[in-house]
Amino acid sequence: MKNCIFCKIVEKKLPANIIFEDDYFLAFHDIKPAAPVHLLLIPKKHIESINHTDKNDEIWLGKMLLLIPKIAFDNGCKPGIDGGFRIINNCGAAVGQEVLHLHFHILGGFVGS
Ligand code: 5GP
Ligand code: ZN
Repeated sequence: MKNCIFCKIVEKKLPANIIFEDDYFLAFHDIKPAAPVHLLLIPKKHIESINHTDKNDEIWLGKMLLLIPKIAFDNGCKPGIDGGFRIINNCGAAVGQEVLHLHFHILGGFVGS
């Protein structure tokens, strides 16, 4: 999608600190981290938000969710009962979605976790 920052990162036209990539997904560090660990996981295909998905998307959406713990724990979030991470998905400009390409924020590394 033209003029989409995250599509440009997928196409390697914009630099990013990429920490995971396969045929369908990309994960990289947020440029303005809001936590000691702040990662973004996106589908490579441009989809605006969860509001733009339907039943046909259930397989890749499930795969995307299942990737989150691996990406979190491989990149600084602490596993175990005293660790964990937060997932945030802003869905719609009116509620704070700035980049209109579906993404999950993965936040962790908070003091004591
Ligand atoms: P949203 O508000 O859409 O849920 O979150 C968008 C996130 O993308 C923000 O946390 C913002 O810091 C991050 N972001 C915006 N532009 C870039 C960029 O060019 N590179 C990276 N790595 N992150 C970005
Ligand atoms: Zn895009």
